Amino acid sequence: MSREEIGEIYEKLLARDYARVLFADLAELKPSGRGYMARCPFHADKSPSFSISTDRPVYHCFGCDRRGDWLTYIQEREGLSFPEALDRLAKEAGVELQGRPDPEAWARERSRADLLERALKYFQEALFMGKGKETLDYLTARGYAAGEIKRMELGHYPGGTETAEFFKTLNAKDAGDLFPYLKWRDDYKAIIPYRDPLGNVKSLWGRLTRPLNAGEKEADKYKPHAGDAAKSTPFNLDRAKRSAKFRDFGELLAVEGYFDALAVREKSGLDNVIALGGSSITAEQLETFRKYKARAIVLALDGDKAGQAGTERALEQLAKPNIKAYVLELPEGLDPDGFIKGHGAEAFAGLYADPKSGFKWRTRRIVEEYRNAQSDPERDRAKEKLVNLGATVDPLDVLEIAKALQALGVSLDEASEWLDNIQKKAARGRHRAAEY
Ligand SMILES: [Zn+2]
Repeated sequence: MSREEIGEIYEKLLARDYARVLFADLAELKPSGRGYMARCPFHADKSPSFSISTDRPVYHCFGCDRRGDWLTYIQEREGLSFPEALDRLAKEAGVELQGRPDPEAWARERSRADLLERALKYFQEALFMGKGKETLDYLTARGYAAGEIKRMELGHYPGGTETAEFFKTLNAKDAGDLFPYLKWRDDYKAIIPYRDPLGNVKSLWGRLTRPLNAGEKEADKYKPHAGDAAKSTPFNLDRAKRSAKFRDFGELLAVEGYFDALAVREKSGLDNVIALGGSSITAEQLETFRKYKARAIVLALDGDKAGQAGTERALEQLAKPNIKAYVLELPEGLDPDGFIKGHGAEAFAGLYADPKSGFKWRTRRIVEEYRNAQSDPERDRAKEKLVNLGATVDPLDVLEIAKALQALGVSLDEASEWLDNIQKKAARGRHRAAEY
């Protein structure tokens, strides 16, 4: 029994709107926003103040502040133990549980997620009060309207003592659990929640609201304030995996920065966007793509050297799990957020509608790099690269490589010899793929 299994159970139940079944007996249950409202079963509730999410397996009462996930709910409402509640949900989901559950570990994880959720709410409110105005002005200057800022769940970090005071008001035991993960950073004023694929807050990230200082790198723009800092799962995957593009085609749009993802989602309405949190795909992220059965990924990394190198690497990484890869090329020096600001959201959606195949993108890069090669060894290196590329692609694409070889000034005889090599290598590649 692992948290992955609980995640699997929840995924399956959320997919068929199980909240409607679980909370069916609550008085005045009505759809509201992205979920339901009902009268609270835990206190004498005169008007509906019990909020139920349909995106995530959680509830929260605005009257008595009770909150938790579905497992908590079944335990508290029906007096069941954790293993009993879990058994019931597993049965509903059709998931067979392996091993013994560890209620304490799950409870710790829950309380940390709840705590971070409460902290997020505090930071969101702070954005519209006092010094929060500075952060709000920064966000407005970046082109976001108040409604967008709220949908993006952005917040403001007030600062050391004030925030410490707030944390004192939270359950001391829970806060104690979180202390090893707290890293308050005064410069990182804009707060962005990082949710896991189930939608639980895993960490709160800060974004600099001032320009980078000398010596600071691009990667210094974001730092975690609280929670698990690992970029284990892609940002916004909880939302992206519910998008029509992902449900119907298994397609994701991958960008680097969190703000890029938010800008793309809010401005262009492309809700299958995820952020990698940098210019490369981590091993855990790759595993997540496999787990959620991503079939195609459009890479829209920054239009700079790091972004191009990252695209090259990502294309290699995606070849192995057989995920189709495409490249959306941005003009030099622009990231998706910057592109949308300069050229408009529609222009970005236009680029997304017609991305280059990853294979074509790589072939063209090799030709561009070696077109003016002076020496034979240099030219041979280019051909070698093309052959290696050929080993991982569809046999039909070999034609594309033939064109690339010609562009490099290879004679017909020599080209056919190289193509022969490519096909032999491709056959070996397919053989390996079959074993895999
Ligand atoms: Zn209540």
